[in-house]
Amino acid sequence: MSELDELKSKFRAVMERVDSACERAGRSSADVTLVAVSKTHPAEMIRALYEEGHRHFGENYVQEWQDKRDFLPADICWHFIGHLQSNKARYIADDMHLIHSVDRKSVMKKLNRRSDAKVDVLLQVNTGNDQAKGGVDPDGLPALLEGMVDNYPSLVPRGVMTIPPFGEPIETTRGHFSDLRETFETARAWVEEHHPELLDGFEHISMGMTADFEEAIEEGATIVRVGTAIFGARD
Ligand SMILES: *Cc1c(COP(=O)(O)O)cnc(C)c1O
Repeated sequence: MSELDELKSKFRAVMERVDSACERAGRSSADVTLVAVSKTHPAEMIRALYEEGHRHFGENYVQEWQDKRDFLPADICWHFIGHLQSNKARYIADDMHLIHSVDRKSVMKKLNRRSDAKVDVLLQVNTGNDQAKGGVDPDGLPALLEGMVDNYPSLVPRGVMTIPPFGEPIETTRGHFSDLRETFETARAWVEEHHPELLDGFEHISMGMTADFEEAIEEGATIVRVGTAIFGARD
């Protein structure tokens, strides 16, 4: 099998696992978006999955994404999932379908500078209280959300995202997923009370990677971010 055929077959296998997890959880596959995390992998691999009909891809590094994007179709829905530095934020504001990793005011301020265009964002939550990871403390989420809606009107809150600590037993990770789901419900109640006009769009829970995307779907993920299981190991 050629390298690209192998890629396509791995991709289809992941899609099937997503479908089965949805079925187990009694959810519709249409409610879960698979983001194929293509960081460190070349544009031709992204194009191969694009030709299979896939549109959602995730990238972590601004420069790498810019280099690849220029060679790829304009209707790809790019998801920025990396740690976001405020000095790079303005380069991605216009062309991302969704920015998953917004967790502080300095980044919001830079993203908001494009005042005419709306920018869809998720708020990153540190469910694991893990010092090594970004994200707002679950208790601090409503205040951060309020600060964003009041001060940065270009930013549209679409939900929450988490990266649990690595290497923990799957049942511990599942606990982080259910914590994020609860944090989401609390935030959604806040939105309903204070900004009902934003409620319809506040719908996403981004969680689950190669090691745990099926558990994440069972716990309510609407977006899973899968790299290694599709593209193979990164160098
Ligand atoms: C790299 C990355 C992924 C994909 O991880 P895999 O384990 O390769 O599936 C998902 N989410 C984030 C935030 C990442 O940085």
